[in-house]
Amino acid sequence: MKKLEWQRQNRKLHPEKWRKYDTDCKRRANHRRRMKIIELLGGKCVRCGFIDWRALQIDHVNGNGQKDIRAQNSILYYKRVLRRILEGSKDYQLLCANCNWIKRYEKREYVYGKKEI
Ligand SMILES: [Zn+2]
Repeated sequence: MKKLEWQRQNRKLHPEKWRKYDTDCKRRANHRRRMKIIELLGGKCVRCGFIDWRALQIDHVNGNGQKDIRAQNSILYYKRVLRRILEGSKDYQLLCANCNWIKRYEKREYVYGKKEI
């Protein structure tokens, strides 16, 4: 039996297991994309030079990041961001979590309870 054929039959027999497998695959692919994006964007916060990837965030230079994320689910988001960067887009930069929040306050991108502070 060929692998694909086996997979097709096996998917019908164990849909739950395969769903978990698919989700894990997507999660791993997404993690790889995120790491690739971080690497392409220089691997550190553009403001303070922080380098721990766990707290690095991909920031939309013009502040449309939140809208961007909402526009599509996050798996597609990383895929799209990576494609844009590879095409030479300068719309994205790396910020650590601290600098990202500070930038949001400075630019008033973040609004508390819809009321600006
Ligand atoms: Zn920073």
